[in-house]
Amino acid sequence: MDQYDYIIVGAGSAGGTLAARLTENPTTKVLLLEAGAASHPYSRMPLSFGLLIDNPAANWLYQSEPEPGTANRVIPVPRGKLLGGSSSINGLVWVRGQPLDFDTWAQMGNRGWSWREVAPLFTRMENFVDGDGSNGRGTGGPLKVSTVPDQNPLYDALFAASKAAGFKLNPDYNSEDQEGVVKTQTSIYKGRRMSVAHCYIEPAMKRSNLHVVTNAMTLRVLLEGKRCTGVEYEKDGKTVQAKGRETILSAGGVASPQILELSGIGQPELLKKHGIEVKHELKAVGENFRDHINARIIWRLKVANVSYNHMARGLGAVTQMMKYLATGGGFMSLPSAPLLAFLKTRPELATPDVQMHLVPYSIKDPKTRKLQDFPSMTIA
Ligand SMILES: Cc1cc2nc3c(=O)[nH]c(=O)nc-3n(C[C@H](O)[C@H](O)[C@H](O)COP(=O)(O)OP(=O)(O)OC[C@H]3O[C@@H](n4cnc5c(N)ncnc54)[C@H](O)[C@@H]3O)c2cc1C
Repeated sequence: MDQYDYIIVGAGSAGGTLAARLTENPTTKVLLLEAGAASHPYSRMPLSFGLLIDNPAANWLYQSEPEPGTANRVIPVPRGKLLGGSSSINGLVWVRGQPLDFDTWAQMGNRGWSWREVAPLFTRMENFVDGDGSNGRGTGGPLKVSTVPDQNPLYDALFAASKAAGFKLNPDYNSEDQEGVVKTQTSIYKGRRMSVAHCYIEPAMKRSNLHVVTNAMTLRVLLEGKRCTGVEYEKDGKTVQAKGRETILSAGGVASPQILELSGIGQPELLKKHGIEVKHELKAVGENFRDHINARIIWRLKVANVSYNHMARGLGAVTQMMKYLATGGGFMSLPSAPLLAFLKTRPELATPDVQMHLVPYSIKDPKTRKLQDFPSMTIA
């Protein structure tokens, strides 16, 4: 049986970065297990955020249970299932988060996560190509970040309207002040997605001390008494065991607690109900899951040629594809929202409590993803 210093389950944003950082030390032996494939042909093109949102080849396609808070609807919960995890399918919108959020988590007991402690890591991970290194922005990290280059009179009108309505504009919402209406900074460089797979995992795979196994589904963690000694995973129909000094579960907010439960760690009553032997009682496992809901509102536009509904349909789609192939720009190169607004719903709030996405097109139905027939934009 293979023996590692660290076994990392899930090669997503967290696991992939960790594997790359740990193996900078050539004496540290790491096994990185990923249930999904090594890549998907669409992933590096930014528009893949829409194309892979319901594609089982790269997406777990989880769903919520019906509950009163969602009017008993089942809500899709997409999550990336390939090397790079959700960073390989996500909306490419680069947002650090607010210092207040991190400080609140630290104050609640999550020591080590205060803004003062995480800010240097944000600086280290990025290469903000449109920045000059001020505001704590990184210019030497492995992940290239750039501001949306797309120009559109619609964006100018939205900025002017925001200003007229009293909302401020903000030259860098990833500084310590997030508030304002802004052009989006993205994990895109020259029209290509900067996923954790591309920026961290693939360069590190040249190292002999990193062993990456894709299409490897972790089934459970192995326990000797109360101590975790490794994992059991399935690869090509075979069950394989690996031993590690430490095992890190970074399979995402849905799958990490699931693996714990399948290993007998969780709420005893629930585990027993599913015929799982209880190895360790831990009541919080699988509880308090939070995600954000995206409510899309479509606005009809009087001017047709500022909306990609008009510019990317029919022959326009061919033009946009040619533009993307020739210049790396246009419709195919956009993140999920080229403009953002971080606003306070009440003036007395210390920091913004809503994030709005301004999108220069709209779709008819999330299932078919066909562009609307009439010129319009979406504000979500
Ligand atoms: C559609 C979508 C759009 C998003 N848009 C944005 C955005 O624009 N901006 C932003 O900041 N954030 C966005 N996010 C959120 C962001 O991408 C995630 O928060 C982040 O990538 C989560 O990182 P993670 O490491 O926790 O999990 P993930 O990156 O999801 O990684 C988990 C990995 O574990 C693997 N895994 C799961 N179960 C197993 C198992 N049993 N065995 C082995 N491997 C397993 C998965 O396949 C996956 O590769 C978006 C997310 C999604 C899904």
